[in-house]
Amino acid sequence: MTLHKLELDFFRNYVHLEAEFAPGVNVILGENAQGKTNLLEAAAYLSSARSHRARYDRELVQFGVDHAFLKGEISSRGRDFTQEARLHRGERRQLFSNGVKLKTAGELGEVLNTILFCPEDLSLIRAGAAERRRFLDDAICQLRPKYAAALSEYKRLYEQKTRILRDWEEYPSLLDTLDDFNLRMAQVGAVVIHYRAYFVKRLAALAPPIQSDFSGGREKLTLRYETVSTVTDPEAPAKVLLEELLDHQQSHRRAELDSRQCLSGPHKDDLAIEIDGQVARQFASQGQTRTAALSLKLACRELFQEDREEWPVLLLDDVLSELDARRQSFVLERIRGGQVLITCCEDDKKVTGGGKRFLIQGGRLVG
Ligand code: ATP
Ligand code: MG
Repeated sequence: MTLHKLELDFFRNYVHLEAEFAPGVNVILGENAQGKTNLLEAAAYLSSARSHRARYDRELVQFGVDHAFLKGEISSRGRDFTQEARLHRGERRQLFSNGVKLKTAGELGEVLNTILFCPEDLSLIRAGAAERRRFLDDAICQLRPKYAAALSEYKRLYEQKTRILRDWEEYPSLLDTLDDFNLRMAQVGAVVIHYRAYFVKRLAALAPPIQSDFSGGREKLTLRYETVSTVTDPEAPAKVLLEELLDHQQSHRRAELDSRQCLSGPHKDDLAIEIDGQVARQFASQGQTRTAALSLKLACRELFQEDREEWPVLLLDDVLSELDARRQSFVLERIRGGQVLITCCEDDKKVTGGGKRFLIQGGRLVG
């Protein structure tokens, strides 16, 4: 799939941008704070209505303005598409594909998929489980609209149940609804686990060979999905998972009421990452951490390709400059085939990927 053209109005520091990208490598140059990352963020938003660094859509709207507009011209599945997002402060965002209003963000991913890799992705390896869940969720949401729907229902239920647990002592009647919430959370939770288990299984096959190539055959990467402790086989059918999730809820009921927190369910899942049998989070060196994060992202890219039979658009933010020459050429070699948008600082001449070059200055495309 190819993002041919990107148009932005009042998105972050862009008053207006029109950029036409080449199908291969596109290098986006500019000094610090000019809008390079904003541009990648916009491209990613058109695939998922999510941003890797904004919690709320309103952060994406230009300061002092009340709306923003994003438009992408994309070819995918042998057809042409136009995807649009309209963001308004204080209102729900609106998404369109070929002029038709979309009901869910997941539908964007049926046309455009992106994989973004940025320096903060080291936290995939280093930080807590929340980062890794976010990585899994971002990827699966793009591929499976049903997962995106289940996940957003699960999050809603989680928030409502959390409120019940927080306030039940003051308002004991809230407990009347707890069983209903538990049942629905277990049902939706089973769907979430099912999708995550299959995704991790495929990722666990694709990532180790990349890590191995990257490290000249020295490093062995292992990935494992970790979920609710009563689940014996996360790939089991949803009805088996449902029973196991209900068992776990039951045994944690008292603890949830006492701690006033939701303790049972896949909102605590993790993706366990090991290098040569050691937990990467605790023991990986800086180089190993960077390599592992990149291996995960490139594996994800290959998984998308297997699934869609087209390469997703790869967005590399400021990462090549941090790699040594050998790893850089490894990456550039490995990403052949699909469209890539790479950002780097102006003085950085190391990126030799060729392709089209863009110069960004103060939120404007100047060359
Ligand atoms: P670096 O090389 O340092 O990573 P960059 O070119 O990637 O820089 P961006 O992260 O894209 O820079 O951000 C550019 C500018 O956008 C920043 O100066 C920031 O203040 C500005 N900016 C961010 N959000 C908004 C917003 N909502 N409205 C206006 N400007 C914004
Ligand atoms: Mg940046």
